[in-house]
Parts: sequence; C-alpha cells; structure tokens
Amino acid sequence: MAIDLSLTDEQSLFRDAIRRFAEEEIAPIAREYDEREEFPLHVLKKLGELGYLGLRFPREMGGSGADTVTAAIMAEELGYASPGIFLGIYVHVFLALNAIARFGSDSQKEAYLKPGIAGDKVGAWAFAEPDAGSDPGSMTTRAVVDGDGYRINGTKLYITNGSIADFVVVTAATDPERGIKGLSLFIVEKDAPGFSVPRRLHKLGVRASDTAELSFQDCWVDKSQILGEENVGFANAMRTLTEGRIVSAAFALGAGRAAFDQSLAHAKERVAFGQAIGKFQGIQWQFADMALELEAAKLLTWQAAWLADQGLPHIKESSMAKLYATEMCARITGQAVLLHGGSGYMMDSDVQRFYRDAKVMEIGEGTSHIQRNTIARQLGL
Ligand SMILES: Cc1cc2nc3c(=O)[nH]c(=O)nc-3n(C[C@H](O)[C@H](O)[C@H](O)COP(=O)(O)OP(=O)(O)OC[C@H]3O[C@@H](n4cnc5c(N)ncnc54)[C@H](O)[C@@H]3O)c2cc1C
Repeated sequence: MAIDLSLTDEQSLFRDAIRRFAEEEIAPIAREYDEREEFPLHVLKKLGELGYLGLRFPREMGGSGADTVTAAIMAEELGYASPGIFLGIYVHVFLALNAIARFGSDSQKEAYLKPGIAGDKVGAWAFAEPDAGSDPGSMTTRAVVDGDGYRINGTKLYITNGSIADFVVVTAATDPERGIKGLSLFIVEKDAPGFSVPRRLHKLGVRASDTAELSFQDCWVDKSQILGEENVGFANAMRTLTEGRIVSAAFALGAGRAAFDQSLAHAKERVAFGQAIGKFQGIQWQFADMALELEAAKLLTWQAAWLADQGLPHIKESSMAKLYATEMCARITGQAVLLHGGSGYMMDSDVQRFYRDAKVMEIGEGTSHIQRNTIARQLGL
C-alpha cells in the first residue's frame, strides 16, 4: 500500500509551534535539571495550559483529538530538546493518561484525565517490579478483594514520576494462578493509606526525570479505582504500550537528530591537520551512515504511526520502529561524543547528556530483546 508521509497543514503548524516551545522553554533548562536530578514540573504545567498534553485525547475531556502522527511529532521535538524532561511528560501523557482515556470510567476521566490534561495532576505508570520487568507473569504485587474495594501489597521499581505523581496506574495480580491473564490495573492516589515512596533513584541518564521505588502495604482502594475490567489488565497495558512504542521511537529519533545536528555543526567548524574535520572522508562516511540511519528510523516510525491512524494492525511495525530508532539513537549519540573529541566527554557538553540519556530508551517500554521477541512472534515463530 502507498503511504503518504507529507504533513497536513495542521500537523506542520503544530510542529512549528511545539518546536518553538521546546527551543524556548526546554532546551535552555535541560542541563540545569539534569544536574539537579529533578523534573521541571512547571514545564508540564505550561504544556497543559497550552493544550499540548491533551493532544491525543477527546475534545470533551479538554483534548484536541489529534492523530498518532501528531503525537510522534511532539515526541520528536521535545526529545530533541531534552530526553530527560520529555521522559516525565511521556509517561504522564502516553502511559498514565492514555490508559485512563482508553479504559477509564466517566468518573475516572473526570477525576484524573481532565486535570492531567490541564497539567494540574501528574500521573505515573507502575508496571515494573524488583523481580519482574520483562516478565510480567512473575509479578508479585497482589490486589485482593476486601470489603468494597481491594487491598494492594507489593513493590514497584524504576517508576518514572514516582515521587511527584498525584496518581499512579498500578498493575497488580487479582488472580495470581492465571499469570498474565490474572492481572488488573488500578488507579492509586498518592495519599491512599498504605502507599509510600521509600526512595528516589539516581540514574546514569535522563536525570531530569524523576524515578522512584513505590511501596504498597495493605494499601486499600475503593473498587471504583479499578481501571478497566478485572483480569484484563495485561491486555490493556499492552494496548497502551503499543502506542507508547511509536511515541518512544519518535522520542529516540528526536534525541538522535539533536546529537547529529550538533556533531554536523562541530565537524564543519573544528579544524585538525589544517582543515575542518568534516573534510576527512572517514568522517564524511560516518555522517552519511548516521543520516541514513536517522532517515530509516523516521520512515519506520511514521509508518507505524500511519498504520495506527488508519486502524490497521501495527504491533510488529511499532516494535520495529521502537527497536530500530532506540538502537540507532544509542549508536548516534555515542558517535557524537567521539566526533566532539575531548570536549564531548566534558559534563558541560550537550552530547554527553544525549549519550547518557539514550541508553535507557533501549531498556524502557520493553527492552530491545523483548521487541525482537514481539517481532518474531508476529512472524509466526
Ligand atoms: C530510567 C528508567 C525509567 C523507567 N520507568 C518505568 C516506569 O515509569 N514504569 C515502569 O513500569 N517501568 C519503568 N522502567 C522499568 C523498565 O520498563 C524495565 O527496567 C524494563 O522493562 C526491563 O526490566 P528489568 O529491569 O526487570 O530487566 P530484566 O527483565 O531482568 O531483563 C534483564 C535482561 O534480560 C533480557 N531478557 C529478559 N527476558 C528475555 C527474553 N525472554 N528473551 C531475551 N532477553 C530477555 C532483557 O532484555 C535484559 O537485557 C524504567 C526503567 C528505567 C531504567
């Protein structure tokens, strides 16, 4: 089938606006928040005020009902400015709010989606555990019926926005005997009895995002806090993550493009052996390969987004886009450090930050191995 990759006027205008926002509001503070290991909540609030957090959600909820391609544009532009800051925005919008928009009751949408879109409440997505990341069937967090609600016990690890979230979408086993077919999603508020954040975690990269361990000790939630039906939490989480993978791919594309652009400018200016280093054929070939990889990642990402918008199957294509774009990003950001020489290794350079930030993209949302497993399964293996 033919795919039209040209942007509509609306998408094009949106790209210009979000790019300007990223240049003015995010890029200038990216280094500072990386050093502070803190997420700039005011950026989320401002994105909410401008209506950008509601991009993908229905108009009646305060959103603008835009398509997946537009979401990919947002991820690419914000990822270009700061992967660390975008990670916090990504988890809030594309995982926590997205799950509530898809599977939430009217009252849940009113209580979490609306204020989430406005940037007044922050969401987190708690799936991973100390002994269960890639393998959700071994999840040990349990939710047991107790009176008019559920009592949740367990620990979640590496949770983005964990210590700053107003609410967390938590996956827990409601029928442990059935493995992934016995998982359910719950919305837990930060002041729910028995919920706590024992520690914030320190990371190699994406340090402008908040990451925490979450603890649920006899944490009671009303039955109205279950998100979607009981025991279909895994399927619903996967539906949410399939769109998330397209956005993750676009995110990696943006970060890779940022490292590429900075390296290209450097190669034109930096002189060695009497000429700009970009004049050496060895360096030129490296740029040719990087440009090729960026283009391939872009085509895979936009293909997956386009398929999603047509309502066509896109599980394989989403995994391919996420896998290729994130590995491409890790390669290009590594090369960017080399191309900058010693200056790229210094903490005041931007490329070292992109290099550190890139690695997590191969790990989160299903590691590169898990994406390969998904692709192989879709091939019938
Ligand atoms: C900065 C950061 C932020 C994160 N944010 C969130 C968040 O907001 N919410 C959330 O729920 N999680 C989050 N995570 C967790 C992340 O999703 C998991 O770390 C990831 O899914 C991998 O799980 P794991 O760490 O348990 O590794 P493991 O599952 O233990 O994997 C270890 C290694 O084994 C490989 N492996 C495992 N199974 C297979 C297999 N079947 N075939 C081949 N190889 C395999 C993996 O690919 C990996 O290389 C975050 C992680 C990080 C680092």
